[in-house]
Amino acid sequence: MMIPRWRYIGIAAGFVFLLHLLASIHPTYRATTSPFNLLPSGGWKSGQPPDSAVPKWGGEGLPSADDLRDDAALDGRRRANAVFVVLARNSDLWPFLDSMRQMEDRFNHWAKYDYVFLNDDDFSDEFKRYTQSMTKAKCHYGKIEPDHWHQPEWIDEEKATKAREEMIRKKVIYGHSVPYRNMCRFNSGFFYRHPLLADYDYYWRIEPSVKFFCDLNYDPFLVMKDEQKVYGFTLSLYEYIETIPTLWDAVKEFIQEHPDYLPEGNAMQFLSDDGGETYNKCHFWSNFEIGDLNFWRSEPYTEFFDYLDKKGGFYYERWGDAPVHSIGAALFAKKEQIHWFEDIGYRHEPFQHCPQGEAHTRGNCWCDQGNNFDFEWYSCTKRYVDMF
Ligand code: GDP
Ligand code: MN
Repeated sequence: MMIPRWRYIGIAAGFVFLLHLLASIHPTYRATTSPFNLLPSGGWKSGQPPDSAVPKWGGEGLPSADDLRDDAALDGRRRANAVFVVLARNSDLWPFLDSMRQMEDRFNHWAKYDYVFLNDDDFSDEFKRYTQSMTKAKCHYGKIEPDHWHQPEWIDEEKATKAREEMIRKKVIYGHSVPYRNMCRFNSGFFYRHPLLADYDYYWRIEPSVKFFCDLNYDPFLVMKDEQKVYGFTLSLYEYIETIPTLWDAVKEFIQEHPDYLPEGNAMQFLSDDGGETYNKCHFWSNFEIGDLNFWRSEPYTEFFDYLDKKGGFYYERWGDAPVHSIGAALFAKKEQIHWFEDIGYRHEPFQHCPQGEAHTRGNCWCDQGNNFDFEWYSCTKRYVDMF
């Protein structure tokens, strides 16, 4: 019986496919088709990962986290003494893995910075297992000491309860919540004192359910270090005044007592349109922060935090760590030391910063450039840009 001609073509195509399949199992074939070969042939420019930052194990099963860390240490890339900081509950595990996977894919798979996870409770084995399995860097897990977390004894609970009830009436977001207030106070004045962070100089804060849109092919920690930056942000906006009605009064009192803490050329202009008389409510959005831990540990900020804490506003109002950090950075650093990471595409609901133009292409960003909060009416980033 005659076999029709198209059958021959089919058989030949099948044979070629089979050959490819077999060849792809062969190590030399694998090497030439590896996605790592898409890296620039001449290696990376300075500040970017060298080819050797690409994991290079093979053969005997999978490498342990420690094997890979050694690899990173040996690859000769200049690093900062830096770490990711994550405050989370066990129930934040899955939403956090979403953020962490993106951080690893966009940056940390080659940078290999460690993570410090902090919690007011013990982290579960499940939380530890899944987070550590997401990265080749090392994860450290710490418990927050009760005094750094809970409402202090000397807070007048009756006054605090009344304040919360009033905020519920006014429908202020998180107005009812004591844990949220603990969190804001902890992030404002305690996270950088945790023993697990003692040996680090720089941190990058990551929250659950955020998005990182673009590949990072340089190390932002080295930008901080090399250019003596103390605070890095992506988004800024106005604070709800109901949460901070007396914060600026406290700030002004503090400035009057310690005028020497404010350097020439600070960023007061970002905070106030009348030379410090009133607060315009602008702050950097602290769910994203790349910062200098030693800046928070310095005398001016330490004194500042203690001063604010004694006012009780974290509980009698609902002072957020975003305005507190922003005011601290804007007053006690020079404006050039605050850095806008314009090429880091980032989203925390409901706002996003999407890099524009060339930066979008460079980072292979996947955000819509038309969806960008930078110069919307509710953003303060124009005020930041206008300072320079
Ligand atoms: P929002 O961004 O202001 O809406 O606040 P989030 O709910 O995202 O909380 C800010 C950060 O603090 C996140 O990283 C949370 O995981 C963390 N967080 C909030 N409340 C608690 C808490 O009670 N315990 C712990 N351990 N972490 C918390
Ligand atoms: Mn959040």
